[in-house]
Amino acid sequence: MVRQNLHCHTTFDDGRDSPEAMVRAALDAGLTSVGVSLHCPIEGETDWCCPAEDEARFIAEMRSLRERYAGRIAVWCGLEYDLDAARRSTPPYDYIIGSCHMLGGIAIDNTPEEAARLIAVHGGADRAAQLYYDRLCTMAAFPEISIVGHFDLLTKYNERAPLYDETSKTYRDAAFAALETLSAAGKIFEINSGAISRGWRTTPYPAPELLRHLCELGGRICVSSDAHSANAIACAFDRCEALARETGFRELWHFTGAGFEAVRL
Ligand SMILES: [Zn+2]
Ligand SMILES: [Zn+2]
Repeated sequence: MVRQNLHCHTTFDDGRDSPEAMVRAALDAGLTSVGVSLHCPIEGETDWCCPAEDEARFIAEMRSLRERYAGRIAVWCGLEYDLDAARRSTPPYDYIIGSCHMLGGIAIDNTPEEAARLIAVHGGADRAAQLYYDRLCTMAAFPEISIVGHFDLLTKYNERAPLYDETSKTYRDAAFAALETLSAAGKIFEINSGAISRGWRTTPYPAPELLRHLCELGGRICVSSDAHSANAIACAFDRCEALARETGFRELWHFTGAGFEAVRL
C-alpha cells in the first residue's frame, strides 16, 4: 500500500549505500517514488552530516538518477534539516524534512548513554522533553519545511531502557502542544520505522497516543523508513500502515513533484 519513501540516507552522509543502491532497492520493494534526504551540512559535524563541499555533487547525482530511472520510479532530491543548521534560503531541493537531533550540542539519538547524559544536563527527563518539544515548535516559522522528522525521537531507547515517562503530564502537555503548533502550521508528520531497522524499537515513531491526537486535529501523515542502508528502504511499512489505520487515519500524503497530495489508505 505504501508506495513512497522520502526519508533515507546514503554514503553522502551517514548511510551505508550509494544513492543508486537506494533507488534500486526502492524499485525492488515496489515503491513508485523515492526521495533521498541529505543530512544538511553543519559546521563542525562531519561524521553524520554531508560535508559542505559534497552538497553540489549530491544534487547533481540525484538529478542524473532522476533522468536515468524516469518511467520506472520517480526520484526526488530531499534535505533533512537539523534545526541547528536550518537556513533561511531556498535551496535546490524538492522537499525538506525538519528534525531536531541535538539539544545544547548533545545528541538525542546517538547512544543510550549520551541520551541519559542529555537528560542529566538539562535537569531531568520532563524538563529535557519540554525543551525538545519547544524547539520542534520553532519549525512552524520555516515555511520551506514540509515534513516533521521522527516527531518523538526522544523515545528511541524507551523500549529497552526507559529514559522518558511518556505518561507524565509535563511530557504529554509538551508533546501535544508541539503537535498542535506544527499541525496548525501545515506540517506533515512521519510515521517513521528508522529505530526498528536499527534494532532499538519494535514500533514506529510516533507513539499511538500522539497519532490519535494528531488525527483528531485533522493532521497529515506520511510513512518513511529513515533507512541508512538499502535493505531497510521499506522497513516495517506494513506495521506503519497498520499503525496509521489503528490511530484513525484514512489517507497518507505523497509528494508529487509539485506539492503533496492525499492517497487513500
Ligand atoms: Zn533524523
Ligand atoms: Zn534521517
